Amino acid sequence: MLNIVLFGPPGAGKGTQSEKLISKYGLTHLSTGDLFRKHLGEGTDLGNLAKKYMNEGHLVPDEVVIGMVEDKINSTISSKGFIFDGFPRTTAQAEALDTMLEKNGMKISGMIALDVPELVLKERIKERGKTSGRVDDQDEEKINTRIKVYLAETFPVAEYYEKQGKLQKINGVGEIEEIFSLISNVVDSY
Ligand code: AMP
Repeated sequence: MLNIVLFGPPGAGKGTQSEKLISKYGLTHLSTGDLFRKHLGEGTDLGNLAKKYMNEGHLVPDEVVIGMVEDKINSTISSKGFIFDGFPRTTAQAEALDTMLEKNGMKISGMIALDVPELVLKERIKERGKTSGRVDDQDEEKINTRIKVYLAETFPVAEYYEKQGKLQKINGVGEIEEIFSLISNVVDSY
């Protein structure tokens, strides 16, 4: 079973590369951002709770995210494996994920971290904001907050996997296909 954490700052290309990984390896996409946006669109209690954090570029509280991920894993447990995209975003989430997987006799195969300079991220997010309809893609201040939150709260998650010998860094600037080929090489080595 392949369970991959695709990691990187907002705008690193995690969503784009996840789609390609899913179709090549037949995995289940578990994007917490997408799940929250679905709840938001459907106006559920969870969506309403997450909304104020998301729209400001802040993280949704750990217990809310962890509960949502647990439900998704339990409802797709027969999957060949998962691509975790945008999760875990804190060390507490990473620990909770390990516990959840262990309970089901599963584990993380590895983390693939996309490395993209801050200037490029900002350009990409602004460009995406023209068509994504995402409130958090459209405002310079919110984009800056998301990058700051990433550096302060999410970046340490890479160290968590590095300590387990599971971190692989990839250059996330270049052609989509080139980057995908680098990622595929890592996945094939698992
Ligand atoms: P994303 O689509 O991954 O950029 O996520 C959009 C927004 O959803 C983030 O800015 C957070 O507000 C929220 N979110 C997504 N995933 C998480 C997570 N793992 N932990 C906390 N908040 C999250």
